[in-house]
Amino acid sequence: MIRPTVLAVPIFALLIAVEYWWDLRQKTNEYERKDTWTNIALGFGSLFFGAIFGIIQFTGYELLYSIAPYKMPMDTVWAWVLLVFVDDFAYYWFHRMSHESRFLWNFHVVHHSSEHYNLSVAVRQSWFGGLAHWIFYIPMGLLGFPYWTFVIVHGFNLIYQYWIHTEFIGKLGWFEWIFNTPSQHRVHHAVNPQYLDRNYAGIFCIWDRMFRTFTPESEKPRYGIIKPINSYNWLWINTHGWAEMWDALKEKKTVYGKLRCIFGAPNMDFEENSNLKIESKI
Ligand SMILES: [Zn+2]
Ligand SMILES: [Zn+2]
Repeated sequence: MIRPTVLAVPIFALLIAVEYWWDLRQKTNEYERKDTWTNIALGFGSLFFGAIFGIIQFTGYELLYSIAPYKMPMDTVWAWVLLVFVDDFAYYWFHRMSHESRFLWNFHVVHHSSEHYNLSVAVRQSWFGGLAHWIFYIPMGLLGFPYWTFVIVHGFNLIYQYWIHTEFIGKLGWFEWIFNTPSQHRVHHAVNPQYLDRNYAGIFCIWDRMFRTFTPESEKPRYGIIKPINSYNWLWINTHGWAEMWDALKEKKTVYGKLRCIFGAPNMDFEENSNLKIESKI
């Protein structure tokens, strides 16, 4: 079935054009031409590879759904509302682990490696993330939500996250208490020390508040990753994390050390080897 994110491409393109025009008019320099085209290319690539790797997710999901003891009645409103929350909860953990474990970060780093912040960064997505993404979502099959309902709700979750990639919307009052917003997601993309590994929300920021990963925007965010990638090469942007991990792995002498290097925190080696605090590198 066609994913909602594919159907949303014309709207995404139109909104990028509008924001780009506004950026030129305001002379705010949020857009950099080469960065923007790279983001768009990475977006199309992720749709293409996502369709291929989606087969893994579909197969695993259907398998678990077939053995689910209870099938959700999708002709009721409550089942759809529950699905929105369950999917968003799964997203929170998928996203959080994508920052806290190097294995998953090697995919997700693609989204964070732009040093700009605008709507085009929303579509800057990993090409190969589909190889790991399914781990967090196929349990929803076991809960009895049919695959097609998951595809719709998850698609809208991702579409929701599009509009929060902008500098042009400030804080939104009461909305900030429940929903993820541009202000909160700017914090998520920033490398200011107090902003690192914060605000993992998809639609609802309630998970960040519950699990104490919420930080409101205060000082101006600086965007990117701790070790800038300095490349516009699509393939390198998608694979540099693995190359760096491979180099770090060769230094590890024990099995425990190697496992920790793969599944531990992404910046562990950097912190251990350089004896530098993250702050001093930014
Ligand atoms: Zn992230
Ligand atoms: Zn983002």
